[in-house]
Amino acid sequence: AVPTVIMVATGVATRYGILIKDGESLENAAKIKTIVFDKTGTLTSGKPKVKEFIMLLADYNEANVRELVASVEANSEHPVAKAICEGIKNVKKCQNFHNIEGEGVTGIVDNKDIYVGNTKLMERFKIQVDGKITKIKENFENKGQTVVFAATNRQILSLIVLEDQDLVRPEAPIVVKELKTLGYAVWMITGDNERCAKRVAEAVGIPICNVLANCYPADKKSKVEELQYQNLYKKRTKSVITTTDVEDSSAKLTNKASYGGVLFVGDGINDSPSLAQADIGIAIGGTDIAIDAASIVLLKNDLKDVLIALDLTSVALRRIK
Ligand code: ADP
Ligand code: MG
Repeated sequence: AVPTVIMVATGVATRYGILIKDGESLENAAKIKTIVFDKTGTLTSGKPKVKEFIMLLADYNEANVRELVASVEANSEHPVAKAICEGIKNVKKCQNFHNIEGEGVTGIVDNKDIYVGNTKLMERFKIQVDGKITKIKENFENKGQTVVFAATNRQILSLIVLEDQDLVRPEAPIVVKELKTLGYAVWMITGDNERCAKRVAEAVGIPICNVLANCYPADKKSKVEELQYQNLYKKRTKSVITTTDVEDSSAKLTNKASYGGVLFVGDGINDSPSLAQADIGIAIGGTDIAIDAASIVLLKNDLKDVLIALDLTSVALRRIK
């Protein structure tokens, strides 16, 4: 049974546009030690725009390549896909479309095999990226921009540079600062690359040692699990920024008393395993799948409501005791 105070807290929360789907999860609030944020769409606004479209092959024309690429991305719901499709009127038929989660998309348009995505996608299809192209890409990424490749016929056609309206949501640094003051460990986990992740982490005030980049959805979930049990396992040694290092089978369970609850805040499809794994999962920004997996939904799309939600739950808990 849900205690009355929790029902009251749930009612109050509704007035703030905070939908508490699972009242019982609030009882987990007291054991929360760590707050984990997704990056894209959670710490950033998640509405990127195409900033530059860099052509790398002389015998292709830009307008044509933009159309080919948009024709594949038209089949994807990803924010990157939406940005790439914006303003492209002549979308063509795409055959054999595939969406590879955390990597990008592929399909056949005008009899051309088209690949749009990150380094992992290029590696998967054995498309060579030479050092010069990598250098250009990394320069943009160091500024916090996201860069995806467009390729065909085993060659890189272009680099597509995307940028959020603002580097981060304006309220994000305030929220992170407050959470740290309240004594929580604050983390960021993202499917994006480590350079962009680093820039965003710096902008919001999350320490670099608490950043995990290049994650697949399953990696995000494993990291949440690891953080929940980190005090139960022997210390792990790998650094976190460059790779997904979450599975370490050598770790041993030590002391069950030190379970640390994790609150995860995320917006996307790729966050739903983490939202479900966390002791409290908060969805922001309105993706249906994230909402399904979350215990709390922020309807106003304002990150400050994470603080309000935490506050309401701790008040409710104090009343129970
Ligand atoms: P995040 O955790 O930051 O929300 P995702 O797991 O959704 O990120 O995506 C990780 C990366 O995969 C993106 O930054 C992008 O490089 C690539 N990617 C995913 N979907 C697409 C797509 N439809 N088109 C191009 N690139 C994509
Ligand atoms: Mg996201």
